Amino acid sequence: MGDVILDNVTKRYADVTAVDDMNLDIHDGEFVTLVGPSGCGKSTTLETIAGLTIPSEGTITIAGVDVTTRPPKDRDIAMVFQNIALFPHMDVHDNMSFGLRLRDYASDEIDRRVASAADILQIEDLLDRMPDELSGGQRQRVAIGRAIVREPAVFLMDEPLANLDAKLRVHMRTELQRLHKELETTIIYVTHDQAEAMTMSDRIAVMNEGHLQQIAPPLVCYDQPANLFVAGFIGSPSMNFVDGTVRATEIETEGFDVEFDPSYVDELGEGDEVTVGIRPEDVYPAEDAGELANPTRPIRARTDVLEPMGDEIFVYIILRGEDASDTDADTGAAGAASAHGVDELLMSVEPDSTLTDDEDLEVVLDREKVHLFDTASGDAVSHDIVHSGSVGEQRSAWEGG
Ligand code: ADP
Repeated sequence: MGDVILDNVTKRYADVTAVDDMNLDIHDGEFVTLVGPSGCGKSTTLETIAGLTIPSEGTITIAGVDVTTRPPKDRDIAMVFQNIALFPHMDVHDNMSFGLRLRDYASDEIDRRVASAADILQIEDLLDRMPDELSGGQRQRVAIGRAIVREPAVFLMDEPLANLDAKLRVHMRTELQRLHKELETTIIYVTHDQAEAMTMSDRIAVMNEGHLQQIAPPLVCYDQPANLFVAGFIGSPSMNFVDGTVRATEIETEGFDVEFDPSYVDELGEGDEVTVGIRPEDVYPAEDAGELANPTRPIRARTDVLEPMGDEIFVYIILRGEDASDTDADTGAAGAASAHGVDELLMSVEPDSTLTDDEDLEVVLDREKVHLFDTASGDAVSHDIVHSGSVGEQRSAWEGG
């Protein structure tokens, strides 16, 4: 059984709290990714699970056993790191079996495990090669093979793909998913790359400054981010944010107003400062928005820069305000300096769009996809301002209670 439980784990160094009161409950067989910007405490968290670091406070339980202060060798884990250190003078077979030989496993058991791992990783024909005869991807596979032969209850992986080129990384992503499907072993994976986290994991644990921000399936983090940090970190390009104020049943921002369902009046009070979040794919040219059940009123805008991506086009648009003259809009564009992009939005449109730069247009937002955050605390207030239901109700729907 590969359950891993972190109970109030804190790790302090002299003048920095690397991990602050972390609680995680990872189920047997789950693929959980710790993701967040550099320095947020991902590796330290993983190191406490591995036994490479003893937490300052809190406990760590693996498979029902409190391992908080046990050395790595007494935990049922295997690690794969970013820097693959294969022994240069040993062939692949010996590199993979080294740990087992140290532990005095019988040679037929070693051969069985190496053969099985080599089969899973499709490196059977590399077993006699020396490390310097392998490509980067092959070396990484051998490193993973070395972990697999241990047959641990939990795999811990710290940015194992970071040193591979972009194409190989995407390929190895698929391989790791396949591996997980086959082994059904718990994997705890660390990356700063949100795309990697989104594509591979059963759940992702988003961290910032030592704090766990949200742990949920990738699409829940995408569709129902718990706060501004998660909303901005998950998704590429990032969600648009615009600061606004509640006036009656509308959120007023500099560039546009959005009407919300009156059933939110209880949660949103007159004058509340909220941040409106909208993903680029939920902003539409008004003329393409025919199928939206709940669009905003048309918002006057002008296209700025276009970025054709092949399967979609990213269009930066400058909002011209509901009553603004063209002259005002030009001035506004030049002054667009606010953290929450007072008057610029990023919109994603179909690749066959005929939009050009510096073109006047009207856009609408899908109100069913408008997120609201409390500007002061950053916490999510709503992920759908049309249908009644608080964030708490929306969350309990995906948490199953
Ligand atoms: P991440 O893996 O998310 O990049 P880390 O867990 O490596 O972040 O680091 C979290 C914070 O703890 C950083 O501020 C880092 O500088 C600090 N830190 C990590 N290890 C040590 C250490 N051995 N001594 C002092 N500070 C450390």
